[in-house]
Amino acid sequence: MSLGRQPICATLRSVSGILLGILLGILMVILLTVPVLAGNPVSDCQEQATQLAVGSRSTGTGVNNLDRQVAVLIRWIDEATSYDVSSTRTDPPEIVFTASGGLIEYEQRQIVVEPNLRGAYDLSHRRIYLVCPWTSGNPRNVATLLHELVHDIQFQTRSWQCSQAAEWEAYQLQERWLVQQGIAADFNWVQILMLARCPRDLHW
Ligand SMILES: [Zn+2]
Repeated sequence: MSLGRQPICATLRSVSGILLGILLGILMVILLTVPVLAGNPVSDCQEQATQLAVGSRSTGTGVNNLDRQVAVLIRWIDEATSYDVSSTRTDPPEIVFTASGGLIEYEQRQIVVEPNLRGAYDLSHRRIYLVCPWTSGNPRNVATLLHELVHDIQFQTRSWQCSQAAEWEAYQLQERWLVQQGIAADFNWVQILMLARCPRDLHW
């Protein structure tokens, strides 16, 4: 059925030209005022995350705040490990905020951000994804960033049998950092051990 189509046209025609002009003008103002990216959860999330990162409503300094946070974490990794962090320090990976349900590029394919995913590191683009809500005031959120920075340093400085093999150390360092903040990581180490295993051929 096509209910409502003709009555709407009839209603518009019955409105005077001036009133119609005013209504269209208001509509245009509304359309121009609404951000172009409204409804895009990733962009909204990035703006939110930037504001949270600076701890205020002001924008513009959020990136610097995040850069500072990254520098502090790289220094921590430098002191906690024997890795040469100079490459990551001078050329840090890109950081992109994303939202649960969004799409991210990961190992040259697109994957959906599952509800339990808090962060990811895409080696092909040297890009860290942080899933909103994320704030530098939340140590668990910062620990996620630390974990992904560890991955960048791991892959910049040595080769791995498979990318999963780097997970065990990243989680270990993430736990150590959290413990230093007085927070229990509560990781499932059996699950992480399974996650960190490289896939191998199965022979029956
Ligand atoms: Zn990881």
